[in-house]
Amino acid sequence: MTVEQYKARAERAKRIVFFGGAGVSTESGIPDFRSADGLYSRKYDVPPETLLSAEYFYAHTDRFFEFYFDKMICPDAKPNAAHIKLAEWEKQGKLSAVVTQNIDGLHQAAGSKNVFELHGSVHRNTCTKCGKRYGLAELLRQKPNIPRCDCGGVIKPDVVLYGESLPYAAVTGALDAIANADMLIVGGTSLTVYPAAGFVGYYNGARENLIVINMTEISGFDNMLIGRIGELL
Ligand code: NAD
Repeated sequence: MTVEQYKARAERAKRIVFFGGAGVSTESGIPDFRSADGLYSRKYDVPPETLLSAEYFYAHTDRFFEFYFDKMICPDAKPNAAHIKLAEWEKQGKLSAVVTQNIDGLHQAAGSKNVFELHGSVHRNTCTKCGKRYGLAELLRQKPNIPRCDCGGVIKPDVVLYGESLPYAAVTGALDAIANADMLIVGGTSLTVYPAAGFVGYYNGARENLIVINMTEISGFDNMLIGRIGELL
């Protein structure tokens, strides 16, 4: 199919769900994990899966935040053409939900309202001792130190670390939206992080309306557009 044919299909769809990953935000300057210049290609003495694990957070809180502040927080990043197009479609009543593995909050910054954040958000943070909630600004204020609550407890980002379970409300909302979609666009994700990657299997719509947009080929899909998601969307 040509881009024009995909576009015609998208124009006819009424309940598009977008399922995305880190590749959606690379055009905003946030590195993904698995591209050639992603975080996995850089040299760390500890792999990112370990650095971003719950076990590492509690055992080496100082080193966790060193990596987190350095690589996971991009406070100046702005929504790109992909985020903006998805927000437009929602406003027009064509898109029912964005399901994202990203933690950067850029879909909301672009104006999207119905966003299911499977891996949480850097914008929400909670004291591990008293449960007080904080925004990102408080963590940035205390950077590069370990962020601490008024009570002295460590403030932990509400991002899902390796070894933690996905937030229940986001999971149920995402699965419901995907199961009721008449088009599922999967974009900017290597589909390697489970259980999130398995959500695509809940799509019940027409097979020709399951479309993958990615910089690199993903096996197992008939309808793929290879290229930059900001341009293609
Ligand atoms: P990934 O790094 O495994 O894969 C990203 C995919 O996007 C790759 O296949 C790459 O080819 C593609 N890609 C990169 N730039 C693209 C572009 N401009 N247009 C189209 N495709 C592009 O990412 P993942 O599958 O989301 O899994 C990584 C995990 O890391 C996720 O759980 C996510 O939460 C987390 N993460 C989030 C952010 C963020 O919030 N922005 C950044 C890095 C990692």
